[in-house]
Amino acid sequence: MKVVVVVLGKLDKLVKEFVYRTSKKRQLPDADAREAGGKIFTFGSYRLGVHGAGADIDTLCVVPRHVAREDFFSDMHDSLNSLNEVTELTSVTDAYVPVIKMKFQDIPIDLVFAKLNVPKVPDDLELRENLLLKNLDETCIRSLNGSRVTDEILRLVPSIPAFRTSLRCIKLWAHRRAIYSNVMGFFGGVAWAMLVARICQLYPNAIAGAIVSRFFRIMYQWNWPQPVLLKPIEDGPLQVRVWNPKIYHGDRYHLMPIITPAYPSMCATHNVTQSTKKIIEEEFKRAAEIADKVMIGTGKWSDLFSKHDFFSRYRHYLQIITSSDSATRQLKWSGMVESRIRHLISKLEGVDNLYLAHPFVKGFDKVHHCATEQEANDVSHGIYNLKPISEKSGTDSSKSGNENGSNTIYTTTFYIGLLVEPRAVGSTTAHRQLNLSWPISEFTKLVKSWDKFDERYMNITVKNVKCTQLPQEVFEEGEQRPTKLKRTKPGGKAKSNTTTTEQPIKKRKTDKVTDKVDTATDQPNKKRKTDKVIDKDDMTTTEQKRKSDKVEINGSNLESN
Ligand code: ATP
Ligand code: MG
Repeated sequence: MKVVVVVLGKLDKLVKEFVYRTSKKRQLPDADAREAGGKIFTFGSYRLGVHGAGADIDTLCVVPRHVAREDFFSDMHDSLNSLNEVTELTSVTDAYVPVIKMKFQDIPIDLVFAKLNVPKVPDDLELRENLLLKNLDETCIRSLNGSRVTDEILRLVPSIPAFRTSLRCIKLWAHRRAIYSNVMGFFGGVAWAMLVARICQLYPNAIAGAIVSRFFRIMYQWNWPQPVLLKPIEDGPLQVRVWNPKIYHGDRYHLMPIITPAYPSMCATHNVTQSTKKIIEEEFKRAAEIADKVMIGTGKWSDLFSKHDFFSRYRHYLQIITSSDSATRQLKWSGMVESRIRHLISKLEGVDNLYLAHPFVKGFDKVHHCATEQEANDVSHGIYNLKPISEKSGTDSSKSGNENGSNTIYTTTFYIGLLVEPRAVGSTTAHRQLNLSWPISEFTKLVKSWDKFDERYMNITVKNVKCTQLPQEVFEEGEQRPTKLKRTKPGGKAKSNTTTTEQPIKKRKTDKVTDKVDTATDQPNKKRKTDKVIDKDDMTTTEQKRKSDKVEINGSNLESN
């Protein structure tokens, strides 16, 4: 912890020097330049006192009005760049909240920027006052917002120690259950913090254990889309949008609104889709049941934290493989694709016969050293299961080939679990179709319309794989990949497939799922062969297959290169 304090002290000093230099550049008298100040604030989980080892430290650089955002991304960036203790420095200027990312003495830091409409920024400056936001541009308001929200949460909880302990517990649970990710349509750090803060407000004298069990019970029963609010939504002095479903049509579509407490209030969970809502609710239910058992002495807390079973839960998955020729390019390309996956989820939700499209919270990075152009081409189309693969490395071999003349390809693969609607009772339809062509082609079109997309270096392939075809990389060491298809009921828990008694052969036959590659796609022949991986437990005769309840997944092997 101490090293973080030292690093934050150094960063604060660098900000003050940067403000001084810029003030001089703007011809301010030396005394005014010295008084111009500049200050670092922390926010996010570090400020809340709940950040884990290795987590990013969110920081905000506040400067007076004569210092511009451009100065920050040039002068401040350069001064950080000149330091040996700063590594992996990158500026993301086109983000919703522009940021400088770096490691300072190996501590990951996000640094955002806001200039206030004041001539100087003294050390005792606070950001609570709404009038401070007057005449600021929207980017500065957004950048200040993170800090204002975190501070407001801390002001609104009755007991900070109880809040911290219970939030740590809930964050660990959400990570273990793979429902911690704002970008993928689940909840991010600030949403979890606000939910826990709300329960703390409801039970001001409760200790952390009681808060955690009440958290699950209340959240399971929450009447969404009723919003979670820590205080009434405030009006303020600016012409900026404040969350209000009565006025803004878009706000009515927020399925699980959790509203930030600082003016201008916004919905921290606007990414939630119908699918992710179902998954979160199912997790609340599971946790509430465990917590109830703990309360009556028949269960144990550790059950809460058992690892998710995402990769053995579904029979079918969509695999979204992004690839490029350099680590730097791949970071940006895969980040862009990741930020759009929830759009694909929303489109999949409209597909007939599909009950659930469940995105996994993170992508899997790989570096492939390929001996030939053909191999490199295969890898960028997601054909690499049989090749030796190295773990992701931090080094950037962006050259087109290395000394052996081989090609290095970087891939990041995302997964979406697919759950098919159960057949209607009494239905006699033998075939059911899952036509994913349209959502997938719309999605690839969308990501390729990115202004930095360059088809010479980047690629995206979307294909469907069965659970038995999942690559080893998605399983942890010692974890068993599924060898048999699991039965999962919509809205229910997947049954274990470890014993054959739970999967009578007869039953499995009637649930047989066959993949049909859509021949209308621009699929190279070679790839189609690779897709024909046959499940060991899927060896039924053609005759048997014809009789079974088939689900044809069409269009999911669309790809582009
Ligand atoms: P973690 O431990 O995961 O880093 P965190 O609380 O620091 O959790 P971040 O995702 O790092 O959360 O976000 C940092 C801050 O940025 C939040 O505290 C919040 O103020 C702001 N922020 C991030 N995402 C959102 C969002 N979806 N809506 C509103 N504010 C957000
Ligand atoms: Mg953070």
